Amino acid sequence: MKGQERALKILSGFRCSGKIPSALLFHGPPGVGKRTLALEWAAAIVCERPGEEGAACGACRGCEAAGRGAHPDLRLVGAAYQAALLGEEPETQRALKVDTIRHLRREMETTSLWGGWKISILEDAQTLESASANALLKILEEPKPRTLWILLAVSPESLPKTIVSRCARVPFSALRAGDVEEILAARGVPAPKARAIARLSGGSAGRAVEMWEEAADGEEEAPAKGDPLAPFSLAESLPRELPLARRKAERIIALEIEKLRLDVIERRVPFSKAGPALRELRDLLRAVGSNADPRAAVVLSRIALEVLSS
Ligand SMILES: [Zn+2]
Repeated sequence: MKGQERALKILSGFRCSGKIPSALLFHGPPGVGKRTLALEWAAAIVCERPGEEGAACGACRGCEAAGRGAHPDLRLVGAAYQAALLGEEPETQRALKVDTIRHLRREMETTSLWGGWKISILEDAQTLESASANALLKILEEPKPRTLWILLAVSPESLPKTIVSRCARVPFSALRAGDVEEILAARGVPAPKARAIARLSGGSAGRAVEMWEEAADGEEEAPAKGDPLAPFSLAESLPRELPLARRKAERIIALEIEKLRLDVIERRVPFSKAGPALRELRDLLRAVGSNADPRAAVVLSRIALEVLSS
């Protein structure tokens, strides 16, 4: 877990002292590791043979089931969970509904199937509807022994004060660009690209991975380099819906700008050559933001870069 030393320290404090609160609030920007750490930490709690300092053994029944996402006493409650529970589509889940909280209450009140803790991780807790928040508050006011609620949210301010006051807070921060770069490198992203994406990610590894996947998509769909039709194929690969196409075009061009800037800083391209292309790319980025055709902008941006490499 990169860049979240403060959160790790707080959590290992709970673990070592044996005083695990009944509710935790993991708060911080999206894509910085809240869900990953919640799952890892919860898995360590359901481990049946924890090592020193409370580390999971990785081999017992509890660890094995948690690793498969199939531990009967540990649930990750997000869009997929709620959709399955209510018989709806995952894409339509905008809020944590009161029926979901009531269902969880019953689940959490039954005896632990494997004799240990019962844990519910609530993703996007800031989307709790007011009835859901009230139902949850009642539960948190009289917590059952060995039950743990982990709420994931963007900030404490995004939740009712009454709920926040019942939770131990675990703050997460935006990641340093260097950490995001390492996370990308570990996924096999080549160094110059990893650096460029990391700088554009705003400290969110989740967003960085998304950007890399989008960039990789674009390259897969485009024919080999040097093909005069390549820019057009890339433009064709943009989504049909205009707002989505615009967003993707903005990301493609922003990434091109950042890559070129790094090429100049690291002296792979002289500024005399890159300067005009950078200006052109920035103009195109602005134009896409103010209603220019995203496909045309992508084509022009690729042509600007090809002139550079010829
Ligand atoms: Zn274990």
